[in-house]
Amino acid sequence: MARRGMLIVLSGPSGVGKGTVRKAIFDQGGNDFQYSISMTTRKPREGEVDGEDYYFVSKEEFEKNIKEGQMLEYAQYVDNYYGTPLKYVNQTLDSGRDVFLEIEVNGARQVREKMPDGVFLFLTPPDLMELKQRIINRGTEDMETINKRMEKAVDEIKTMRDYDYAVVNDKIDNAVEAIKNIIKGEHLRVTRV
Ligand code: 5GP
Repeated sequence: MARRGMLIVLSGPSGVGKGTVRKAIFDQGGNDFQYSISMTTRKPREGEVDGEDYYFVSKEEFEKNIKEGQMLEYAQYVDNYYGTPLKYVNQTLDSGRDVFLEIEVNGARQVREKMPDGVFLFLTPPDLMELKQRIINRGTEDMETINKRMEKAVDEIKTMRDYDYAVVNDKIDNAVEAIKNIIKGEHLRVTRV
């Protein structure tokens, strides 16, 4: 039987640059892993494409998916649902290919419980004030949302110890290289052969 693919989970506080790092990894190409597109009830930001950045759905549709057991994990983040459709992940892993998730920490915890063989990476900001500045610079959130996200970020950093690796996002290129190297290394683990 073919080897089952490896699940790679990138998590960390919002605003740390998970999305940017993930995009850089996939824009560079040459990867042997597939990106799992998340489902969300958040409204698309300018330039975001349904079915590419997220599957943008209504609250009712999201809750129907939860009820029917179709989500690997999900979380309510600020005022919206975000989650990973189970079917794509399972089908891809079964076909022997690796899957890459980029999700917030509550979701990552659920995945760790269900799929403990995964590789769990925590992206950390060099420091918290820089994180706040990055969220502000992004210019897509109002001050109240920024503060809510900051409070959440402090709690999230405390969960770092539940991960296999911590990757500091000082520079995007460094973080991307570190993540690619970790994935290469994981494939060489004797226990994965
Ligand atoms: P944003 O609204 O900035 O796109 O995402 C907000 C947060 O939700 C980010 O931390 C992002 O990583 C996280 N997120 C995106 N997709 C998922 C998902 O499928 N599940 C979970 N739990 N979090 C997600």
